[in-house]
Amino acid sequence: QCILVCPVGAIHEKEHIEEVWHAIFDPSKFVVVQDAPAVRAALGEEFGYPPGTLVTGKMLAAVRRLGFDRVFDTNFAADLTIIEEGHELLKRIKEGGVLPMITSCSPGWVKFIEHFYPELLPHLSTCKSPHQMLGALVKTYYAQKVGVDPKDMVVVSVMPCTAKKFECNRPEMNGSGYKDVDYVITTRELAKMIKQAGIDFASLEDGYYDDPLGEYSGAGTIFGATGGVMEAALRTVYELVTGKTLERLEFTAVRGLEDIKEAVVPVEGLGELKVAVAHGLGNARKILDRIKDGSADYHFIEIMCCPGGCVGGGGQPLPVNDEIRMLRARALYQEDEKLRIRKSHENPSIKKLYEEFLGRPLGEKSHQLLHTRYTARRKF
Ligand code: SF4
Repeated sequence: QCILVCPVGAIHEKEHIEEVWHAIFDPSKFVVVQDAPAVRAALGEEFGYPPGTLVTGKMLAAVRRLGFDRVFDTNFAADLTIIEEGHELLKRIKEGGVLPMITSCSPGWVKFIEHFYPELLPHLSTCKSPHQMLGALVKTYYAQKVGVDPKDMVVVSVMPCTAKKFECNRPEMNGSGYKDVDYVITTRELAKMIKQAGIDFASLEDGYYDDPLGEYSGAGTIFGATGGVMEAALRTVYELVTGKTLERLEFTAVRGLEDIKEAVVPVEGLGELKVAVAHGLGNARKILDRIKDGSADYHFIEIMCCPGGCVGGGGQPLPVNDEIRMLRARALYQEDEKLRIRKSHENPSIKKLYEEFLGRPLGEKSHQLLHTRYTARRKF
């Protein structure tokens, strides 16, 4: 028997389709599905659409036909991540915390730093990745709202990612008191389920997300492309600090497939915010080595494990190359441009979540449900 071990969990390729069908057909279970931003920009390729076709509406109609009880959007939790991470960054800057702070929403990347640069773990934001935040909220906030016992809930995440299969089984991912996310299936696995169910994808009328964990901003959508988390964070951090409206929302310096991108953003009240974006673990290594030798003079760094970010994730349709990655990313940026709300802190459902349940960013409930810790692991 040949066992392939990937140090960052990115080829943790066991399928979970059977388990998900089981949950759907179990009448005692309340089964919730969420999908990551990059999924909607690539799923269509499995049904003959050209790369870069956004199939959000058909995807939502398809998952409803599969029998899920509620359909929520990981984009909602991407907005929430920006609120928590933005406040964490400002706290570190104001109180002299560990800088540069590095994003933590890519589990392949998180596993990499745990194995190969454990001495730099204090640089990682403590924010959970968005789908884990959403899982924790479904089994607390939403369960209370609809009066369902969280022990009867099953949360399924449709992700572009194979590393998230490992992530959802990390023992610390149980802030709700239950396993926050029960199963992760990839974009390819979702396509397989749709085909198994005999659904004619092309003829589906557009479906919709359920409230309140389905509302999202353009900033949440662009999380799926390298540089997207940084751009979303800059939109919010700028307005939080200055109290002024950002006139131009596009930070084009952090877009595209260049290995490492840098930007210096003047923010009244902070001076300058120096940021960098890296995708792919080779580029991550370069930045980490610069942190170690003291030459990485940044406040905030975004690192994504997969080349191109999640649009090029290991669970996405094949083949993939830079042209396809760019087309998928372009679809997300185009969606962002069309949305009325394009900043995470302006998402009305996020505001309501803090008013009704969380209290404040970085508060006690946030720490319990939305933040995590890391483990130094042995080098391979
Ligand atoms: Fe997963 Fe890759 Fe996206 Fe990281 S960049 S979350 S490993 S798909």
